[in-house]
Amino acid sequence: METSLTRKLCVLGAGESGVGAAILARDKGYDVFVSDKGPISEKYKKQLEDEQIAYEELKHSEEKIVLADVIVKSPGIPETAPLIVMLREMGKEIIGEIEFASRYTDAKLIAITGSNGKTTTTLLTYSILKNAGVNVGLAGNIGKSFALQVAREQFGVYVLEISSFMLDDMYAFKADIAVLLNITPDHLDRYDHKMENYVDSKFRILQNQTSNDVFVYCADDPETLGGLLRHHTDAKVYPFSQKIEIKEGAYLNQEREIVINIPKQEQFKMAIKDLALQGMHNVYNNMASGIVSKVWELRNESIRESMGEFVNIPHRLEFVSCISGINFINDSKATNVNSVWYALESLPEKIVLIMGGVDKGNDYAMLQELMHDKVRAIVCLGKDNVRIHDAFEDEVDVIVNTQNMNEAVEVSYHLAQKGDTVLLSPACASFDLFKNYEDRGDQFKAAVKEL
Ligand code: ADP
Repeated sequence: METSLTRKLCVLGAGESGVGAAILARDKGYDVFVSDKGPISEKYKKQLEDEQIAYEELKHSEEKIVLADVIVKSPGIPETAPLIVMLREMGKEIIGEIEFASRYTDAKLIAITGSNGKTTTTLLTYSILKNAGVNVGLAGNIGKSFALQVAREQFGVYVLEISSFMLDDMYAFKADIAVLLNITPDHLDRYDHKMENYVDSKFRILQNQTSNDVFVYCADDPETLGGLLRHHTDAKVYPFSQKIEIKEGAYLNQEREIVINIPKQEQFKMAIKDLALQGMHNVYNNMASGIVSKVWELRNESIRESMGEFVNIPHRLEFVSCISGINFINDSKATNVNSVWYALESLPEKIVLIMGGVDKGNDYAMLQELMHDKVRAIVCLGKDNVRIHDAFEDEVDVIVNTQNMNEAVEVSYHLAQKGDTVLLSPACASFDLFKNYEDRGDQFKAAVKEL
């Protein structure tokens, strides 16, 4: 029953995480109101109605929102949004869904962040644990919301994919195992265009960890190493590297095997040629998942089996088709420069690269050498391609503009020669011409099928 003592909670943004948070809050006795400035999808409206949770769409009614004691905000809403500025000035508690849900579970939490490879590593870790019989849930930026699962499921451990926007709204959260895959420039528009702010955001993954917890990171990543100098941790650290031998953690040996050493655990070894996910970036992802699995004391045989059979979800270096000896690869999820670097690095030459879209302030310098060595032509697909032309006109002979995916795929097909790869790896967000990166990847696959 509602009384003046009932705590009020307002959820801003009615997506998967917001609706989950609303349901959990309701279950925990809060008086809940959900507000979304845009339209709410039918699926989520129905869910809110079934749970008898009050909501509004296409507006934020400030007079209702300010009544809340706690605000759970979608990670998509920036700190600079006028509503958030106002609520902060009023001294409201503003947190994210992960923070909120973590208050109501005793489950162990494995939190995975990084600029690239989060989804892949989260899914890989989840699948290794699940295949080994662990009662494990999957949440965060992926699948069903963490809050909803905390409300309705009974998992003993969760593997959470955590973005930096989510980290920014986390305060008391503590990961039992925190994984930081890498830090390369991305989303700098949300961090005052200061790399240091973005690095600090990623290091929030360490918050509240004690000597009983574990921190896994990439010892080859300069930004991570730089950040470690500024961020002390009490956690047990297990780094991974492809360049140096690591005593406690993971490394690549002369025989091209991943070697993992965790104290009191049998040593793990696996040849990288036997990994289901190929490419050197995926060696890192497998090392990170492998360390987590060994910390969890899983059997080597079981880990190897899962790593050898894992099937990634679409749009990440996804093989589409081979037509007239030309391979078509969909890497639509490559929305920043670093992931394009790994795509170019891991594929044989020559490559016809379809790229472009909404440029988030990219620095293309790191791609120049690979472009020069491996790329036959760039097919730009975006509203504004000037920066791509400027960055690569000295490296690549052919750079053409196209207006839509069908045209981009047809032009690429004509520019490619037998044995080449046509790669969609845009380095940019997709919102100028597509609904999202999935739409972009699906349109690519459809266009390839029509050739
Ligand atoms: P995220 O969830 O962090 O965006 P994904 O696993 O969805 O990462 O992969 C996004 C893109 O980054 C893909 O194009 C993939 O090929 C590339 N990628 C995956 N893992 C790594 C890594 N460890 N380092 C750099 N790039 C990576």
